[in-house]
Amino acid sequence: MSRNSEIVVTPGMQCYIDKNKKYLAARDRYIREEVKRWKFDTIAVHGLYTVQDAIEDYQGAIIEPIFMSSSQAYRDSDEMAAALAYLIPTWCYSRIANPSTYYYEWTLALLDGYGYPGETSCCSTSSGMAAIMTAVQPFLVNRTHNKLEPRNFVATAQCYGGTFQQFNVRLMEERDIECRWVLDAGNLDEWASKIDGNTRFLYGELPSNPGLGFFDIKAVADLAHGHNLPLICDSTVATPALLRPICFGADIVVQSVTKTLSSSGFGICGAVIARKNLTSNIENEEMKNDFASYVKYLPNRDYGPNLHPMQAVMALNDMRTLRSKVDLMSRNAQRVAEFLENRAEVESVQYLGLPSHPLHDLAGRYLWLVDAEHDELYGKPVNRYGHLLSFCVRGGPEAARKMFDRLQRIWRATDLGRIKSVATIPAISTHLQQGERGRTLAHIPPNLVRLCVGAEHPDDIIADLEQALRGK
Ligand SMILES: *Cc1c(COP(=O)(O)O)cnc(C)c1O
Repeated sequence: MSRNSEIVVTPGMQCYIDKNKKYLAARDRYIREEVKRWKFDTIAVHGLYTVQDAIEDYQGAIIEPIFMSSSQAYRDSDEMAAALAYLIPTWCYSRIANPSTYYYEWTLALLDGYGYPGETSCCSTSSGMAAIMTAVQPFLVNRTHNKLEPRNFVATAQCYGGTFQQFNVRLMEERDIECRWVLDAGNLDEWASKIDGNTRFLYGELPSNPGLGFFDIKAVADLAHGHNLPLICDSTVATPALLRPICFGADIVVQSVTKTLSSSGFGICGAVIARKNLTSNIENEEMKNDFASYVKYLPNRDYGPNLHPMQAVMALNDMRTLRSKVDLMSRNAQRVAEFLENRAEVESVQYLGLPSHPLHDLAGRYLWLVDAEHDELYGKPVNRYGHLLSFCVRGGPEAARKMFDRLQRIWRATDLGRIKSVATIPAISTHLQQGERGRTLAHIPPNLVRLCVGAEHPDDIIADLEQALRGK
């Protein structure tokens, strides 16, 4: 990271640097020759935390220790000087780094980089929204130091309500950075028509929450790269168990780890995962070489949206079983969607796994259960479409609210990705603040119910929906 030219490396500092070079070379070799060859589940279970780490440094603890400490002590001034100049790996201060978040970052970098031949890295953040902010800000810098410099970016209008607010209010209204919304993300010409010399990045959420928008990642990534721009994807709904956008050309992935990645629901957390050497028209080599490390050690050091170590280890524990959980919850969602599709009280069902969904074929090219071909149960590639679906209740917003209020097993909450089934009405919750216009852009009618199917037996979820739809 940014080496300050004022730093004088003393012989004592050099000793620390040399010692750590050996350690880093061994770690890189271990990742390249061992971890990168493991299957997805093995990475999810172990990440970079080894028996050797545990025995040598952590009293043999089999779970990554939670380092609830604000800062790190150093042996002497040489070690401190080398550490604070980022010349040796360090965690110095928990706003910048921490051993617990270190393991969290590596697991996510490896899971979203699974199957990608190049290198990926990750920066943990305190929330999914902080991840989005972390991912987009470095591209919005003022290049010419002209206060009126026009800047824009292109983003899918079908996106999470918080993302709409961040882009529309914080960036557009407050900072005059233009967000050009793509209304039909499946139309490559629309994406292309919005790019000009002042564009900084392309941004797409897929599948989108709650509208289940989808686009051809490879085609949009090619378009972005043709203009020397990065493609940033919010892949929260799919998780790396179903989709790894970096494998299809995306430069950066943002994850609300709060959601399916840590399905237990202990708290809020996020991550930015980036491939090394990404594409950008910003002249900042350090940023392009290793985006996630750059944001972690520089901008986020200064802004401070860091993740708590306790939350990091809780999320790690959830991620160990990600693939099998996403498989189960996707299969349950498929059954629930098929049930809803046949109910007279339901006007329409949006689920990418239904052949009736207009994006079913496109999504089917991208959403595969990772390693299904290596799974004894399947032995071949298997499509899975995640556990988020939405449906419109016949009879307008009142009918939707009545049905919603009758739910007994399914929780009414503005949440998703849980191991428990959760439903919400986006127009009165997640998508309230952006108003009618934002909701129309994101295709959110007032009688739309978003349902995220959990790991309960699907018969019990269907029974709950059945009684709620039927009424007394
Ligand atoms: C929830 C969500 C976010 C925001 O994540 P938080 O962890 O709540 O800050 C971003 N994108 C999508 C798709 C989400 O569902």
